[in-house]
Amino acid sequence: MSSDHDHHDHGPHDHGPHDHGHSHAVDKNDPSLRVEAIESLLVEAGLVTSEKIDALVDRYQHDIGPMNGARVVAKAWTDPDYRARLLDDATAAIAELGYGGAQGEKMVAVENTDDVHNLVVCTLCSCYPWPVLGLPPSWYKSHEYRARAVREPRAVLKEFGTDVADETEIKIWDSSAEIRYLVLPQQPPGTDGLGEEELARLVGRDAMIGVRLAGVES
Ligand code: FE
Repeated sequence: MSSDHDHHDHGPHDHGPHDHGHSHAVDKNDPSLRVEAIESLLVEAGLVTSEKIDALVDRYQHDIGPMNGARVVAKAWTDPDYRARLLDDATAAIAELGYGGAQGEKMVAVENTDDVHNLVVCTLCSCYPWPVLGLPPSWYKSHEYRARAVREPRAVLKEFGTDVADETEIKIWDSSAEIRYLVLPQQPPGTDGLGEEELARLVGRDAMIGVRLAGVES
């Protein structure tokens, strides 16, 4: 699971008959070039400034990460009323802790139980709840994960070191631009006496995507 690219793999010199072996050919499928081009157009049109984009990227890279989601999960574990509100309206419950905004406008929380294990994927691209989990890991964006999470979830989970009992149903949730999912993992056994801050440290990013269990290093 290494490719972040949506296009079919091809060699760097496979540019067709007009390439003439020229080694500086630009790969127009390269996502970073496309993003640069789009940013240039938006800045030129006066819709955004480069400074604003830099600030947003910086915020998600350094300030906003999976710890936000971990606090939501820890609160749900310790406060049954909050848990009920989270499962009823995740967007509002997450906003209670001060998290929300772009890429998290409509959130749905799905709860793991002994009977159901939830797994989140974006089959179309890489939709992901930024305000609670930060930026998506590269494997989440890979074609391989997006296809296999649906086709053979148990095998994918096993590769993350996660064994789900045969009698446990695995539910797949397809995140989209409209709805983004957060998995509420099961509280690890033997952690009942811990406070919210300690519990939050047990909640890794991968547990909130559903590929690992809480209490296991992400
Ligand atoms: Fe997507």
